[in-house]
Amino acid sequence: MIIVLKPGATPTEVEHLLSKIKEVGLTPHISKGEERTIIGVIGDERVLQSQPLSVYPGVEKVLPILAPYKLVSREFKRENTVVKVNGVGIGAKRIVVMAGPCAVETKDLLFSIAQEVKDAGALFLRGGAFKPRTSPYTFQGLGEEGLEYLAEAKQKTGLLVVTELMDPRDIPLMMRHSDMIQIGTRNMQNFRLLAEVGSYDKPVLLKRGLSATIKEFLLSAEYILSRGNHQVVLCERGIRTFETATRNTLDLSAVPLIRQLSHLPIIVDPSHAMGRTDLVAPMAKAAIAAGADGLLIEVHSHPEEAYSDGEQAMLPRDFAALMTDLRRIALAVDREI
Ligand code: PEP
Ligand code: MN
Repeated sequence: MIIVLKPGATPTEVEHLLSKIKEVGLTPHISKGEERTIIGVIGDERVLQSQPLSVYPGVEKVLPILAPYKLVSREFKRENTVVKVNGVGIGAKRIVVMAGPCAVETKDLLFSIAQEVKDAGALFLRGGAFKPRTSPYTFQGLGEEGLEYLAEAKQKTGLLVVTELMDPRDIPLMMRHSDMIQIGTRNMQNFRLLAEVGSYDKPVLLKRGLSATIKEFLLSAEYILSRGNHQVVLCERGIRTFETATRNTLDLSAVPLIRQLSHLPIIVDPSHAMGRTDLVAPMAKAAIAAGADGLLIEVHSHPEEAYSDGEQAMLPRDFAALMTDLRRIALAVDREI
């Protein structure tokens, strides 16, 4: 449920209400909007049947949240959330582009790609140090060494770092070396992992599962928010359908739909959706036109030699040209890059 407080509710009234909520075993989540403060109450609400919270001083009204995902829903928070990652806001007017190789390979290669995507206007460097590969016999990532290279690339370029976490045992390393934790498609329903990142104060990029519905996607985000971490950015990256001409089917309708259902920012990854370079730029443009708050794009200076996903990696010069085109589209939808 949502408790809407009166504009003049005093701190004592709010404290009294919060202690009551906790006393009956429920969890309050406060959201301070421009006009009103609201408290989302999560847990089994049956405990409140005989003692309604609507009668407490400072309370204007109590409303049910009908969506199965509560904290993630627009019902809980009407204004868009801007997720702040070390000074860069995701979900504001500025479209945020994250770019880099699929995997961190060599140090020199990472540094040169980082510099090129930075010069083209990317704000984040992406690259996996822990790679979720379908086959155990393919490159699995450099692990900690890869994270160190990412952190060095950040120091050299000023780019922020987003990289994938697969195992909660690596969280301390992630906290040290990354600005944002990526939860990949294959782990979107690894609920223990979601709950774990939910208990840290580090922004999370949550990618949609291969076969996840929008509802399942938002419920996965709810796992993170319900643990206290509200800094979640969603990422549409294509879903599995009967179509085999592209690696996945990019569900661009997810962008405007999620913007209706949730206050969280949503970005699009056209690289993993398409699986082929020639389709990445048109779908990146379409994503911005559809209202995406950002893009995640794979870039490699020698795609033919990439350890993974070379077929979908853009050359740095093509990425730079795309960024120029995107600026014009962003203007048309009242955004900027
Ligand atoms: C990635 O972005 O590195 C990745 C593995 O993507 P996904 O989880 O979407 O397959
Ligand atoms: Mn990849």
